[in-house]
Amino acid sequence: MRRVMVAGNWKMNLDRSAAAALAQGIADRAGEVGDVDLVVCPPSVYLDGVARCIEGSKVALGAQNVYHEPDGAFTGEISTRMLVDVGCRYVIVGHSERRHILGETDEDVNRKTHAVLAADLTPIVCVGELLSEREAGQTAAVIRRQVEGSLAGLSADQIAELVVAYEPVWAIGTGKVATPAQASEVHDDLRKLLGERYNATSAGATRILYGGSVKPDNAAELLAQPNIDGALVGGASLKVESFLAIAAAARES
Ligand code: PEP
Repeated sequence: MRRVMVAGNWKMNLDRSAAAALAQGIADRAGEVGDVDLVVCPPSVYLDGVARCIEGSKVALGAQNVYHEPDGAFTGEISTRMLVDVGCRYVIVGHSERRHILGETDEDVNRKTHAVLAADLTPIVCVGELLSEREAGQTAAVIRRQVEGSLAGLSADQIAELVVAYEPVWAIGTGKVATPAQASEVHDDLRKLLGERYNATSAGATRILYGGSVKPDNAAELLAQPNIDGALVGGASLKVESFLAIAAAARES
């Protein structure tokens, strides 16, 4: 049985006091949403402060990125050890903004995913097609290539542990949400692909989140799909009310 999860990707938003207020607001009311794993992923400079706000609550801390090396001369980068040190349990890896704006490749994502798992953290590995790729009928091939590249060399046990997020790039921050049928088709394919490459038990345990303009008013129908195990939420995770409303919809799914 896969536990439903709702993760908030705050991206490069908020300031220190707004991040603390949002984290505190979510932590104070997290009990209301019941059996849903809640994760907040603030900007890295605010991880430590947010960790203090959510301490003792059921909200877990996640990072938006990591570097694959354990330490050393890598100016500006942050290691898994540092993320563990401030209380992280999850790391978003390969978000489309990092792939398409900052040039991350599947090989980069793969190195990061290995490093995250080796540190006993849970990666949330993002995959998703561009609008031009969808329109050219390449969605399945793009997802397959990203999954094979990003997850290369992992064991079946590791596959069972990690979280995959399907985030069609054309739906991120655009208000254009995938229909439940569009999302479901890719989620079903993703689980099938993992089953073929690893085994049915591991593939059946992997949590696959949907991300892309998830809001309180569209969350329920997306999360009702059998292979959608939760949501990775950007814009709507920046307000306590909307984040918790999505989590409440996830609980009912
Ligand atoms: C995201 O950045 O992962 C995301 C899904 O953003 P939004 O919900 O704003 O589309």
